[in-house]
Amino acid sequence: MAAVIIISAAAGTAAHIASANTAPMSVVVIDAGHGGIDAGVRGKVSGVKESEINLAIAYRLRDFFDGAGFCAVLTRKSQAGLYGLPTSGFKLRDMQRRREIIEESGADMVISVHQNFYFDGARRGAQVFFSPDSQSSKKLAACIQNSLNAMEGTAEHSPLAGDYYMLRCTYAPSVIVECGFLSNAEDEALLNTAEYRRQIAYAIFAGSVSYFC
Ligand SMILES: [Zn+2]
Repeated sequence: MAAVIIISAAAGTAAHIASANTAPMSVVVIDAGHGGIDAGVRGKVSGVKESEINLAIAYRLRDFFDGAGFCAVLTRKSQAGLYGLPTSGFKLRDMQRRREIIEESGADMVISVHQNFYFDGARRGAQVFFSPDSQSSKKLAACIQNSLNAMEGTAEHSPLAGDYYMLRCTYAPSVIVECGFLSNAEDEALLNTAEYRRQIAYAIFAGSVSYFC
């Protein structure tokens, strides 16, 4: 019940933004990390591919943003990578294609979705990264991290600055959300469920909308 009320409030906020500016809808690029021959990290227990979880959460996120009146653009739409042929240099081609999509879309916000892995299997919870050179990204990261930290039973973290390619693709606020640790059995079990993927996506969405308020 509480979730329904929050969804209504968030949708109202987005509609307000659109009408107040009489401008085109805000464009949010949702970037599901990895794909194709690059599975990302793997679940320690189930072996689940990070790339699969990223894509599933990206689609849920897209639905939330679309439902609230944003123009949501996905970089990766299938399990395939964005590199063309799986030959030498595929990773750079994959990243460059993502950058092109971000530039072509006229992104007002970019959210990259990933899963974490750490040698210490006890570490868990969601962690948001931002470029140290962007104040707007730092603010967006704080908004999303606060929302993720408010999830029931999670491990709280602070947003962290990081020098990553995906954070240097645009002047628009841009973050990487590591939704959980696939090196932690509890996080992995949760991330293997459709319901938790929806909850994580909703928390990212709600935090992103609060950035505009
Ligand atoms: Zn990743």
